[in-house]
Amino acid sequence: MRATLLYGAGDVRVEEVPDPVLREPTDAVVRVVYACVCGSDLWPYGSLAASEHGFRIGHEFLGVVEEVGSEVPGLASGDLVVAPFMWADNACGYCAEGLHPSCRNGGFWGAPGVDGGQGEAVRVPQARGTLVKLPVGEDSALLPSLLTLSDVFPTGHHCATTAGVGPRTSVTVIGDGAVGLSAVLAAARLGAERIILMGRHEDRTDLGRDFGATEVVAERGAEGVARVRSLTGGHGTHAVLECVGTEQALETAFGVARPGGTVSRVGMPQYARLPLDAGAFRHNIRLVGGLAPARAYIEELLPDVLDGVVEPGRIFDRTLGLDEAPDAYRAMADREALKILLRP
Ligand SMILES: [Zn+2]
Repeated sequence: MRATLLYGAGDVRVEEVPDPVLREPTDAVVRVVYACVCGSDLWPYGSLAASEHGFRIGHEFLGVVEEVGSEVPGLASGDLVVAPFMWADNACGYCAEGLHPSCRNGGFWGAPGVDGGQGEAVRVPQARGTLVKLPVGEDSALLPSLLTLSDVFPTGHHCATTAGVGPRTSVTVIGDGAVGLSAVLAAARLGAERIILMGRHEDRTDLGRDFGATEVVAERGAEGVARVRSLTGGHGTHAVLECVGTEQALETAFGVARPGGTVSRVGMPQYARLPLDAGAFRHNIRLVGGLAPARAYIEELLPDVLDGVVEPGRIFDRTLGLDEAPDAYRAMADREALKILLRP
């Protein structure tokens, strides 16, 4: 089969790799219908040291079960399923606490011996716990929105819920990438009273307004902080959803948090230290968030996607074939595209 490999910064190749087969009785093999490129894939795409063998990449996919092992009850060949961005047994003590990224029997897609999601098929470890069956057909127009359940929509939801977003909450979302826009959608879905979106790409912030942002701030850094403060009578907002992962974004987050407020971070950290200074201390600002347990939220978010109450799939602005994966990475890295669907 064909799959995407990353050989180093800027070097994505689609190559022939061995077909996945069942190795453990808890495995399933899934034929991929849709995969996509994640903003977090762009970090290694921008910086990975060149290697001779390349790494399998991709962690968001939706597809049809082709084969199941003997210990995968509830799933059968032909089922349409979505996979969260990490595989997990959904049964251990950590999973029971909603800490699927810490699963004792889980791991990352593309790790040694594990397929990446950007390929024609995937061997799914711990398939019973990992995969969620979808009650629609392979030809459903909902598939792009359902694919967001693998990562960006639950990540935005995690950011909003850990920040305590609800009715009467004022929110600032930092970042107009796919996760930032998903965080806007999640905050609106949870009833946030006011959502200020910080981003400077107008086509993206327009979608953010459609998703529920009430105001947009294009300025960044100190200017952006001052703008949000002036919009909020000098106070800042109760919840700040940091969806970028840079030190500047986190500094901005603390800068716009109201006293007693909460900063939630879900951007992949590209910083070594936290800007938790005397200001954050004085004003009792909490820091929460982390890697989202996507699997923990899929059942909760699925009905609203199926009913069309939310359309998180609107973040996809382009669809390419699997062999065009190198172009997909280039277009997303150059900010020509927001998020790209890959169709094997
Ligand atoms: Zn577990």
